[in-house]
Amino acid sequence: MINLADRVQTLTPSTTLAITAKANELKAQGVDIIGLGAGEPDYNTPENILQAAYQSMKEGKTKYTPAGGLPALKEAVINKLQRDQNLSYEPKEIMVGIGAKHVLYTLFQVLLNEGDEVIIPIPYWVSYPEQVKLAQGVPVYIEATASQAYKISAQQLREAITDRTKAVIINSPSNPTGMIYTKEELVELAEVCRESDILIISDEIYEKLIYGDTVHTSIATLSEDAKNRTIVINGVSKSHSMTGWRIGYAAGDSLLIKAMTDLASHSTSNPTTTSQYAAIEAYNGPQDTVEEMRQAFESRLEAVFPKLEAIPGFKVIRPQGAFYLLPDVSEAAHKTGYASVDDFVTGLLTEANVAVIPGSGFGAHDTIRLSYATSLESLTEAVERIHQFVSSKW
Ligand code: PLP
Repeated sequence: MINLADRVQTLTPSTTLAITAKANELKAQGVDIIGLGAGEPDYNTPENILQAAYQSMKEGKTKYTPAGGLPALKEAVINKLQRDQNLSYEPKEIMVGIGAKHVLYTLFQVLLNEGDEVIIPIPYWVSYPEQVKLAQGVPVYIEATASQAYKISAQQLREAITDRTKAVIINSPSNPTGMIYTKEELVELAEVCRESDILIISDEIYEKLIYGDTVHTSIATLSEDAKNRTIVINGVSKSHSMTGWRIGYAAGDSLLIKAMTDLASHSTSNPTTTSQYAAIEAYNGPQDTVEEMRQAFESRLEAVFPKLEAIPGFKVIRPQGAFYLLPDVSEAAHKTGYASVDDFVTGLLTEANVAVIPGSGFGAHDTIRLSYATSLESLTEAVERIHQFVSSKW
């Protein structure tokens, strides 16, 4: 008889995976499903990066590396932070890990004691609450509504802080909302964090995917105090279409970075060596493919946004970054006879043959998340199917 550990008893399985499994089941039966669930760019990794990885293997660079990453990769990350954000770090303030996801996991493990609170704005990326709970922490949610463009205010943050608060997570550009905090908004949030002496976890994984005249500001750049209390999380997954290579990093306080590196030395040994060489090229090599992919996402957004907006009962804010759309479909679900948005999503899958992610997984129960990291053709067809589905049942 197997008794699982208490810590996994409350683990919520990923809603993203559940809908993907159902979509795959239908596909296997020959149903023509269009999937808008993807959380990754639909391009291959750029050629120069593939070549660098291959070259490193040919040269026999296939052994263990230092736990927190190769010195040359830390250097590449330091140069990237200097170049893009004018932020200066030393190697002891950088830890490279197995994707931003595992870097965040490692961070919570070294940061939280039982009962320590981490503030998480809703809608949130699915893994934040689970990772906090796995580290015996307590997620404290702040609801950012559509009327506030899915961004928390300084006042909300102030009210959520208690004497158990250790950190707040700021994810800008955001998955799933695509919203970006302005510099002014970040200044106000950073001031609250300073007053209450809490850490800022700044997840900037979508930093390179921003549209229109929006500017991305890292909260760490605002002042010396903000930099000292911020752990910047980023990686090559979304910027360089390298999700499968699993390389992400943390930049911040050397005490935290050392603890994270020590934990990694006993849990992962090191991020995959070949992937680290690929990431060195990603950061040191030409950046034009990053911009090409960004432009492609932007033109898809331009094409599909008006079509999505035109669907009856869909209320959608134009995203400023990442590659997700998060319409509020509560009215559409209600008018088409579904008891919940989750049921509406099942209807979309089985009847319109379009797979989207229910917002319940992000704490935003009235919404669905559509990814536009797919071809314009599929995207257009999918949105037409959704429109048809809603209109026929209205
Ligand atoms: N943070 C956010 C907001 C994400 O959406 C993702 C991936 O979907 C990650 C972090 C993790 O990225 P990775 O582990 O591939 O670096």
